[in-house]
Amino acid sequence: MNHYLQTFLDGYTGYARYLGYEISHPHWKSYFYWLVGVSLFFFLLELVHPWRTKQARIRKDFWLDAFYMFFNFFLFSLVVYNAASEVVVELFRDLLAKVGIHNLVAVEVGSWPVWAQLLTLFVLRDFVQWNVHRLLHRVPFLWEFHKVHHSVEQMGFAAHLRYHWMETVAYRTIEYIPLAMIGFGIDDFFVVHIFALAVGHFNHSNFRLPLGPLKYVFNNPQMHIWHHAKELPEGRRYGVNYGITLSLWDYLFGTASIPYDGRDVELGFPEMERFPPGFLGQAVYGFGHAGGEAARRLEEP
Ligand SMILES: [Zn+2]
Ligand SMILES: [Zn+2]
Repeated sequence: MNHYLQTFLDGYTGYARYLGYEISHPHWKSYFYWLVGVSLFFFLLELVHPWRTKQARIRKDFWLDAFYMFFNFFLFSLVVYNAASEVVVELFRDLLAKVGIHNLVAVEVGSWPVWAQLLTLFVLRDFVQWNVHRLLHRVPFLWEFHKVHHSVEQMGFAAHLRYHWMETVAYRTIEYIPLAMIGFGIDDFFVVHIFALAVGHFNHSNFRLPLGPLKYVFNNPQMHIWHHAKELPEGRRYGVNYGITLSLWDYLFGTASIPYDGRDVELGFPEMERFPPGFLGQAVYGFGHAGGEAARRLEEP
């Protein structure tokens, strides 16, 4: 037991130190400064050339989402989750060893050219994420957590990282096995992370960029806005356009839908009025009745 606690503490202090270092020492491979830079870039695009010209430049919940960006990208993901997941990975390895499995790697891609490794990691991870996203919509208890992301009423780049911390747990847990099978750890490839961050910001931005035939490959704001539509298109009970970075999966598996120009379509989900509007209420939301009660108490005026 002590061994696992030590792993957690090492992970925790290791990443806390790392976070402090990142902020005080700007460098080219800094997640922190890339997040700031990519965010400023899309903020400027929205200012200069907005798709919804009537939407406020500082839209509803902009600051809430700005907080979510740093919480989900750093505080939770890099500090808390990494420390906890090192324990889980350790437990998982010990369990596998008990049943005689010492190596999960099925295909060793480490000897491939770097570009091929990056492409494999990116495509495989995006496909796994597309499936996890579909699960978030189909499994009722996961949907309760995913509502946080769908509570966006006015769309803009910062909405990309408004999501419940349980989503990090769901995505990372499910991603772990297929990535471990090809010998990757999730944090191995900086450039894949930054690319996914930039396309994610782009999908949510108040910006119009016709991609031509590339729209069948890459997700974009004109497609993703329909994922957030309050009213689902006919016959689509669970939703449409689940793509994260690639739209390809939606076109391949028949879940793509852009009924018309969605610029002004109403966003959200039914009975949104009863959803907690602030971070604390949203962070405990989804844990059944107890979570609901806690959310109400936290957000009482
Ligand atoms: Zn969704
Ligand atoms: Zn979204």
